[in-house]
Amino acid sequence: MAYLGLHALQHRGQESSGIVSSDRRDLYSHREMGLVADIFDLDTLKKLPGDIAIGHNRYSTSGESEFKNAQPFVVETGFGSLAVAHNGNLVNALEVRRELEKDGAIFQSTMDTEVIVHLMARAEAGDLPDRLVAALGRVKGAYSLLLLSADLLVAARDPNGFRPLVLGRLDGAPVFASETCALDLIGASFEREIDPGEVVVVREEGMTSYHPFKEKTISHCVFELIYFSRPDSLIFGQDVHEVRKRLGRRLAKESGVEADVVVPVPDSGVPAAIGYAEAAGLPFETGLIRNHYVGRTFIEPRQSIRHFGVKLKLNPVRSVIQGRRVVVVDDSIVRGTTSRKIVSMLQEAGAKEIHVRISSPQTTHPCYYGIDTPTRQELVASTHTLEQIKNYITADSLEYLSIEGLCSAVTGDHGKFCYACFNGNYPIDFPSEEITQMRLFDPKPASRVYSVSR
Ligand code: AMP
Repeated sequence: MAYLGLHALQHRGQESSGIVSSDRRDLYSHREMGLVADIFDLDTLKKLPGDIAIGHNRYSTSGESEFKNAQPFVVETGFGSLAVAHNGNLVNALEVRRELEKDGAIFQSTMDTEVIVHLMARAEAGDLPDRLVAALGRVKGAYSLLLLSADLLVAARDPNGFRPLVLGRLDGAPVFASETCALDLIGASFEREIDPGEVVVVREEGMTSYHPFKEKTISHCVFELIYFSRPDSLIFGQDVHEVRKRLGRRLAKESGVEADVVVPVPDSGVPAAIGYAEAAGLPFETGLIRNHYVGRTFIEPRQSIRHFGVKLKLNPVRSVIQGRRVVVVDDSIVRGTTSRKIVSMLQEAGAKEIHVRISSPQTTHPCYYGIDTPTRQELVASTHTLEQIKNYITADSLEYLSIEGLCSAVTGDHGKFCYACFNGNYPIDFPSEEITQMRLFDPKPASRVYSVSR
């Protein structure tokens, strides 16, 4: 079940993957760099016995992308073996780590998640959930996490509720996942979301829910709805596909243009393009085809063909593009390189005019809560005006959705969102802007250990 769940959630991380199971006595762990389908086979799954398991797909926003940072993070402690799977980013991890190191703590990884385990080990004695609550009380930032010991499973979500976490049921047993699409695959029914600040403890006798933290203003990550989550999921009480269509409809109302056809950038721009086409009364066509077999690890064999760039991933359908005035819809522009290449590709395919429409506002600020964004200097909208970006990507016109438009598309009764990447209003302070996420734990230690295998 954990394996299938990870498969459904592959879009959330493609660097490494792992499962830890429990047979109520010991923990069994298998982790590797790479994709779920490549890491697990019948043999490896047979070596993970038991009837409780947690799994994790990693996409690094803190700590390097290497094996020692693969999750679930497993440790043997004086109070038993533990495994932790964490989604999100802790903003005070470096500060806490420095303090613990001064006190003699030895860290095995460069992940923020490890800080939680150290804090648990140092907590005033108590049972495992008590130790976890004490540790979480010391960290700041985003976490949706699962903790597994031999006979206990705990799910916890930070009081801001940055990242999603849902609870489902399968034959009466609880199932936790980042998104409901994982529940769908294994045939589990969706029960509810874990509340922001809620800790759910699953024991042999049943499930208990606690709300041990001070209530905070909820700030769900709006970018989950715009881009990160799968459109067939239900998160933050909203149907992701519907939200994206609403973003597209609103975008068409805000910045419609005379055109012949609406083309999405697949896959991320598809629902918004459907909404845009619907509201604009224009035909929707798949004018760009995506090759789904280009993973992050795809090797571009020689420098001389490196300029293939986005062509490895996308190719235009000439009959849709040639001689037409094309509206191209994507969910976001980060550095601007993708849009620039797509526009040039459409020009080569004979488009008469190219109007780029983005179903979110300008990304001007980095995320410190679990979405991998580059530094402010690298965010094109942070350093360039709309006109300059339009010129850079060589489009005939460029428009983004307004922040008001975004708010009206996502906020139902379900309340509050974090818009920090669009307006710089960060719900939780972070130590300094220089902290780029991948280098959270720099400066580097005096020397490092490299595990070399095969
Ligand atoms: P860029 O070329 O840097 O402007 O990247 C823009 C493209 O990256 C868009 O097509 C987005 O769908 C996609 N994108 C946006 N945010 C992320 C992210 N955090 N990780 C990976 N891809 C992203």
